[in-house]
Amino acid sequence: MVECPTCQKQTQFTPENRWRPFCSERCKLIDLGEWASEGYQIPAEPDVEEFSIGNTPEESPYTKH
Ligand SMILES: [Zn+2]
Repeated sequence: MVECPTCQKQTQFTPENRWRPFCSERCKLIDLGEWASEGYQIPAEPDVEEFSIGNTPEESPYTKH
């Protein structure tokens, strides 16, 4: 038995537990999400000024698909 790194719930560390050492898929995704957010450092405020200067939304290349 091990503690789930996300919620500290006792969970079985066995081949049958595909989410080990997590207790569930949800806890695994939460942990991976926290790791990703630490690694990529997403800015709190998106830099929108360069998207608006000199461009209407229709002309912006960022709005085209
Ligand atoms: Zn958990």
